[in-house]
Amino acid sequence: MDLFPYVPRKGQLEMVEGIRNAVRNRGHIVIESGTGTGKTICALVGCLEASLEKSNKVLYLTRTNAQQQQVLKELREINKRHRVFGIGIQGRQSTCPLVRRDPDLRSGTPEELSKLCSEKKRRTVEELEGGCKFYEATIETPFDEIENYAMSEIPSVEEFVDYCDRRGICPYELIKELIVKATVVTAPYAYFFVGYIRETLLDWISQPISELVVIVDEAHNLPDYGRDVKSIHLTERGLQLVQREADEFGNIDILDGLSVLDVVSEVDHALQMAVDEYLLDEDGLVPMRFLEEHLMHAFTLNSRMLELASRQMMIYGELIRERKKEVGRLPRSYIYNFGAFLNFWMNIDEQYYIKLIVGGEAPSFEGYCLDPSLATAPLLDCAASVHMSGTLSPLVEYRDSIGLPVDTTLKSIPSPFPKKNRKIFFIDDVTTKYDDVTRDPEIIDKMGDYLVNICNAVKRNTVVFFPSFSLMQRFLSNGILQRIKRKVHIESRDMSQTELMETVTRFKEDAAHGSILFAVAGGRISEGLDFPDRELELALIIGIPYPKPTARQRSLLHYYEMKFGRGWEYTVRAPAYRRMLQAIGRLIRTERDVGAAVILDRRAKQFSDRVEVFPTKDVVEDILQFYEERKKGANTLKVEQENAKNSYMDG
Ligand code: SF4
Repeated sequence: MDLFPYVPRKGQLEMVEGIRNAVRNRGHIVIESGTGTGKTICALVGCLEASLEKSNKVLYLTRTNAQQQQVLKELREINKRHRVFGIGIQGRQSTCPLVRRDPDLRSGTPEELSKLCSEKKRRTVEELEGGCKFYEATIETPFDEIENYAMSEIPSVEEFVDYCDRRGICPYELIKELIVKATVVTAPYAYFFVGYIRETLLDWISQPISELVVIVDEAHNLPDYGRDVKSIHLTERGLQLVQREADEFGNIDILDGLSVLDVVSEVDHALQMAVDEYLLDEDGLVPMRFLEEHLMHAFTLNSRMLELASRQMMIYGELIRERKKEVGRLPRSYIYNFGAFLNFWMNIDEQYYIKLIVGGEAPSFEGYCLDPSLATAPLLDCAASVHMSGTLSPLVEYRDSIGLPVDTTLKSIPSPFPKKNRKIFFIDDVTTKYDDVTRDPEIIDKMGDYLVNICNAVKRNTVVFFPSFSLMQRFLSNGILQRIKRKVHIESRDMSQTELMETVTRFKEDAAHGSILFAVAGGRISEGLDFPDRELELALIIGIPYPKPTARQRSLLHYYEMKFGRGWEYTVRAPAYRRMLQAIGRLIRTERDVGAAVILDRRAKQFSDRVEVFPTKDVVEDILQFYEERKKGANTLKVEQENAKNSYMDG
């Protein structure tokens, strides 16, 4: 069955075939393929051509809503050749009309919103006060009407929400009903990698996990995502919320003579002690039994009694949740969460976790999971899985990190864009290497001089990627803005998404004058935004974005060294390379785009086995010459095309 709806471009049939074979063989495939190679359509076609034969379903996991829209758009194209129904799902935060209208509810976790929704539906069915009018309207609306709309239009989640809003019905409930009829479901990562959400989804899909083909888009995010999903935190702010809840609902004794607030107070005390004793810069390792021993000593308890105290808090928290639910409040209990944290913390698996004290304005304890394969293991139970990204190299590292089998197919599809349209230079007398900068702080001034000279001489839209916000701040404090004679826009750490997008829009609008944007490698701009054509023509990479050697990072390196014997390669070099390539990748988004990148760090040559980098002694001259050559190249191409056209017309 040929489902490909377009004239295939270079590399696309190879990608489809690789995916189709992997799915047919119930295997796994990891594909690196750059922007503009049509990964979404290739993955859909490859998976569907194989899975339709066996009536398997395809779960397409994305990181952003825009990627979900793209999946459904491509599915509509496939439908012009063959009927395949698909639907997108998002959490209640963005689909439940009640939650969308109530800022308090919007902060609810999926579990809390699910409990709230169940209670409201029960009240609706039993005709009690406090039900849900959207649910009532939904059960009164003929399902056929909705089904016909969804099947014929294959709307995006946003379009489906609008459609339901106009009718006063609940999109979330209807998507649940429609999912069973869908061959393709697109959902955020959480729908597969968070255990209880996955179980719920599988229930709705009505198919065992062994019959599911999973596609992971932007897969370079998955290792960090997997670690985050399995990690736990307790912040000072969290302790304050426990205190407030105990004030409202009662500070009961959870053991004889030991109240909730007694435990809060001692945990807070231990947090301060950990800050004083173990925090170095950003974070610090806390001895495995530090908190438990502190509490056992303070309350003269043994570990069994302490664990019992944590469970008692969970039981009390459960009652509070019920009481909140009864009065229509978000069924959240901070006391429950506190008890659950302590219980998990005491029983943490030392093989996979470290315990950290994390500094900053609100210090916290963190149980950090070193191994993402704890979250990604269910992939091994699926019929097949497909992992795609523009920056996944080294593919073996990705495969090992998320625990895919050694016979996983690994494939790199070369970029279809002309190679000569991008050139990467590096300057070899500067670096952000910690030891060198400490020994000779003037290196930073020298980098500043390069930066100013390039920005003032090359009047093209330029993004300057710093390895961290703190290093960016150092340049700003040194007065770099006063020396750059062009408009500079700045990404900041605490910007909301709206503020960030406004900043990026202003930067793009100034393209005619060549403006500058200061951003951070590995941040929101370098990972997720497109700058086609003249919106971005020059990327300056200030230093290699190696991860900072925090306690967390050092533990990760040690863990990978022990597990694979490749700690440095997997946890330092590979992430730095990906971050650099992600940033540089913003330059070329179409086959007409032309862009230069300059890495201001002599260590760039360490990556010459992966990407072609050119040393430069006169960086401004080399950049200008590159643009001049590309301009001539484009003119020659235009003349050749014009001549070809004329001779065709004459002939
Ligand atoms: S039924 Fe729908 S609208 Fe009502 S609470 Fe549940 S998700 Fe929200």
